[in-house]
Amino acid sequence: MKIIGVRLDDGSVHVARLAGPGSAELLAPLERFWADPQAHLAPEATATAVVLLDDVEQVPPVLPGAKVLCIGLNYLKHVEEGSYSADGVPPFPTLFARWTSSLSVDGATVPVPANEPGVDWEGEIVAYVGRTLVDAGPDEALDAVVGYSVFNDLTSRTAQKLTSQWILGKNGDRSGPLGPLVPASEVGDLRDGLRVTTRVNGETVQDGRTDQMVYTVGETLSLVSRTMTLRPGDLLATGTPSGVGYSRTPPWLLTPGDVVEVDVERLGVLRTPVVGNEARHAHGHAHDDVPATSAEATR
Ligand code: MG
Repeated sequence: MKIIGVRLDDGSVHVARLAGPGSAELLAPLERFWADPQAHLAPEATATAVVLLDDVEQVPPVLPGAKVLCIGLNYLKHVEEGSYSADGVPPFPTLFARWTSSLSVDGATVPVPANEPGVDWEGEIVAYVGRTLVDAGPDEALDAVVGYSVFNDLTSRTAQKLTSQWILGKNGDRSGPLGPLVPASEVGDLRDGLRVTTRVNGETVQDGRTDQMVYTVGETLSLVSRTMTLRPGDLLATGTPSGVGYSRTPPWLLTPGDVVEVDVERLGVLRTPVVGNEARHAHGHAHDDVPATSAEATR
């Protein structure tokens, strides 16, 4: 089952299940979906309507107020390829945040900001929290994950490295494309090792497995839940394997015209064309950097 967000002509955002070619079945309005995601993800959940994908705008199935937590440096070889290896592997995951407005969808173009020589790829996986978590243990936290998506944590390295805080470089416009959500029941446990590959214009640049993660999904959500309450719809991006562009000799970054694909076993392929900074100025329509605003939330 593949789950996406769609915005209808009336502005309302719904969560939908991809159906036959070019169509999707609406499951629930966004807020109602996240009030009980397990029920709406059940195979027997009934659709409220069918829409043609050509008639709707695809948006991330993400609440505007969701927390988007991201793990930096979660695969040993990626730690070693960066400028962090002198310190060894830290005992706790480095966490940074994205605003939901930085998220986009499969096929969306991502602009290279004007002050960057390019953007860097980071093929990874996000986990969606499906239940409220307060002081949860790792097993309870993992059990609360309702689904996963392919993710590309496209990074503005110049901005990222201006200071020790990464937030600016991790929040470029549309820089966080997400593939469809696949229910956790169909994905299994990332500790079993799903293959994660990234291709640039067809050439493989990253090839890792999720059993190489230093910090597991359950451990990390558990750690977070001891400080902040996690709610249904919150996201955890789980970090990228080795093979990113900036640490290569010479560095290799994505520039306009490039196409980057992240391919994760059981989750699918996420395709992202890269465009120039002028795309950040070109759009006049209202929703371009507002990924998922439900009718309820805008009232
Ligand atoms: Mg990352």
